Amino acid sequence: MSAFPLDKFKAERTPFYYYDLSLLRDTLASIKDAVGGSDYHVHYAVKANVNPVILAAVAAAGMGADCVSGGEIEAALECGVPASSIVYAGVGKSDDEISMALRAGIGCFNVESLEELGIIESIASAMGVVADIALRVNPNVDAHTHHYITTGLQENKFGIALEMLDDAVGYCRGSQSLRLRGLHFHIGSQITTMDPYVILCGRINSLLDEYEAKGVNFDLINVGGGLGIDYDHPDKHPIPDFRAYFDTFRRHLHLRDGQQLHFELGRAVVAQCGSLITRVLYVKQGVNKQFAIVDAGMTDLIRPALYQAHHLIQNLTSESDEECVYDVVGPVCESSDCFGVDERLPVTKRGDILALRSAGAYGESMASRYNLRSLPGTFTD
Ligand SMILES: *Cc1c(COP(=O)(O)O)cnc(C)c1O
Repeated sequence: MSAFPLDKFKAERTPFYYYDLSLLRDTLASIKDAVGGSDYHVHYAVKANVNPVILAAVAAAGMGADCVSGGEIEAALECGVPASSIVYAGVGKSDDEISMALRAGIGCFNVESLEELGIIESIASAMGVVADIALRVNPNVDAHTHHYITTGLQENKFGIALEMLDDAVGYCRGSQSLRLRGLHFHIGSQITTMDPYVILCGRINSLLDEYEAKGVNFDLINVGGGLGIDYDHPDKHPIPDFRAYFDTFRRHLHLRDGQQLHFELGRAVVAQCGSLITRVLYVKQGVNKQFAIVDAGMTDLIRPALYQAHHLIQNLTSESDEECVYDVVGPVCESSDCFGVDERLPVTKRGDILALRSAGAYGESMASRYNLRSLPGTFTD
């Protein structure tokens, strides 16, 4: 079990998010190391965690930001990310958000439809500026064997279908207010084998060949994010295998001379540095079950309820050598407010402090005040 500052935890009001900033810095260093001398530009996917301390650490490491709303662009700018290193994706960018992004001078719009191209063009033209564009392509990567790929299929709402890509490229090239910089892809999240990325590289290679033959060249390719983490063994794999990830693209993607490769990593950067720390309120005897009712709920970490995800649960304070089986549940009035079924834990009692591990990504950023609960605090170390 990693070394938690337990004495300090005992004085804190629970639940709270604990962030291990030295692990975050080691993770950022590992990314830098794995990139090495390649012309790779890594943008942190801000939606994974917008805590200002985390964002500032990521910005200080020289990463750009991948944003999906005007609010995220503002947060990235405030934490020191240069506007030129901000990319902006999202199927439903509002006119106000587009204007704001153009005024700020962001690096690139990742555009998801022909309709959106027209709106960005008219707003940019009225402002007398030129918008840098990457077209988000829906590569229709077959998900039959990879159920975790959920954004790169024809039936998903994301990206421009391959059949319509030509029209979008032509539209950009015919516009004075749009500058076509490249192509963008993001096939899904929590991807734990390299196979889907190998398939993606193949799709991109054919597209590049096709467009080269038509005399169209791109100065950047953005392959999105999605690299997964080990939720079952956060202490064994605290830092994802960034070398294997970047090497997959080095080996399988045939970039043209001078072409930049962009990435948008979220979860892989921040998930393992966070835990949701909670106290046991009651140990309730059911008919065939024993419930450990904790003071954190789905409002503080929604992934189990939303994605049937599981986070490793540890009792940090029990001194018992005996183990018991519990359903670990929260206080929210929903049956889906459950962190674990039949969890084997050391004998657990009221007041014990539990850690829900790997909660640094899509935890705090997805928190809500449902049931009029207070938002948890944060503790960084
Ligand atoms: C969410 C998202 C990412 C990051 O995904 P992770 O799985 O956290 O790496 C990257 N790009 C886009 C467009 C996204 O929507």
